[in-house]
Amino acid sequence: MALKASDIQKKLPDGGKKNCKECGFPTCFAFAMKLASGAVTVDKCPYLPGEIKTELEEALAPPIKLVTVGVGEKGLSIGEEEVIYRHEKTFYRPSGIAILITEKEDEGTISAKINKLKTLQFDRVGQKLRANLFALKYAGNAEKYLGLVKRAAAEGFPIVLICEDLDLLFKARDLIADKNPLLYPITKENLEAALPKLKAKPTPIGVKTSGIEEIVPITKRLKEEGILDIVLDPSPKSLKEMIRDYTLIRRAALKKTFRPLGYPILSLPCMLAENKMEETLLASAGVIKYAGIVVLSDFEKEMLYPLLVLRQNIFTDPRVPLAVEQKIYEIGTVSPESPVLLTTNFALTYFAVASEIENSKIPAYLCVKDTEGLCVLAAWSTGKFSGDTAGPFLKKIGVGDKVKNKRVIIPGFAARIKGELEEELQGWEVIVGPREASDLPAFLPQMIEKWKSQSK
Ligand code: SF4
Repeated sequence: MALKASDIQKKLPDGGKKNCKECGFPTCFAFAMKLASGAVTVDKCPYLPGEIKTELEEALAPPIKLVTVGVGEKGLSIGEEEVIYRHEKTFYRPSGIAILITEKEDEGTISAKINKLKTLQFDRVGQKLRANLFALKYAGNAEKYLGLVKRAAAEGFPIVLICEDLDLLFKARDLIADKNPLLYPITKENLEAALPKLKAKPTPIGVKTSGIEEIVPITKRLKEEGILDIVLDPSPKSLKEMIRDYTLIRRAALKKTFRPLGYPILSLPCMLAENKMEETLLASAGVIKYAGIVVLSDFEKEMLYPLLVLRQNIFTDPRVPLAVEQKIYEIGTVSPESPVLLTTNFALTYFAVASEIENSKIPAYLCVKDTEGLCVLAAWSTGKFSGDTAGPFLKKIGVGDKVKNKRVIIPGFAARIKGELEEELQGWEVIVGPREASDLPAFLPQMIEKWKSQSK
């Protein structure tokens, strides 16, 4: 549970009554409030003894540690989540999806897998969706494995090194230490042997145990040695165990601030599933139920896309509708003859309408009005998409200067604004379009034909 301002105040000088203002706040309590919200750091108060500082820093640290694998733009940061359920606030750091490669696979398969991570990318509601990491598993040929590690590292994606041979695991780490790979598995058996090498060159690690109880002594021991970049794999044996274990870890970290379990989760459906369908199901459960990294044995477009869309949905802030910018979008090669359409700035609405205009093969001006990310019906019913507001908007963006004929097509769901809009836009013809964007490819050519025959 997060530390309250009143608890923090008691730890401040003179029981939080010194109120000297040197921290820049009028009272110790005001400083305590800022500390509790994470807006300032403890070192702003010059009178805090070292041990209280450490105590407060520990208590104020996020309940789930932030861990970064990889470096640069492609680096993956996971952890620092704050809620059990997305609707309580939001989930912040999308699960990384990894593709598993072993040196045992033939050259064609290895190249194809590397290529999949590089090239499989999807555009959805203005965001680019893609998988994130390589997981390189040792399968018996050390020389080939190290070659694979070097080759994959050259692609710039974060890497999970999976190797039961501890010496080889560190050899591989040393080859690409500057890429900040994740080392897996660190177990109760190899922990003490691994510690000196981890301390010498800090690297994120994946702790593998058989069950949650076994995690606690290992993460405590690692913490004693100052090693905190940890992800957890309690090795669930089934979907049921997976959901149970991951949920227990998350709850213990967030509800009880139980630090030994306050780390992101590594999920390996590739080791658990018997077929592709089961693997996708386990991966989906992992994305929904708190996995920071999900490792898949392989993926095809049809398997990856739904998983990425699920991840996008889970990690989209429910308090902020996905929205696009308010402006005129030119779809296709427009001309003064092109039709004008009006819609709202809810991202899904925009992309549906824009893609159906493209499908119609009729270039058009799509005027997108800011409705705070609401779809047409919701925007209309809350007064954010009315004739009174849409008329001035169309005038302001100057779409009338771009076209010969003053006609605007409004969404069928907002048919009721037609009269108001005509009053606002004197000299314009307001046409009620279809309710569904999918009807535009049939509707637009008909309208063009109609307008052509009218002008003869
Ligand atoms: S500097 Fe420290 S003692 Fe002074 S007001 Fe701020 S918190 Fe209180």
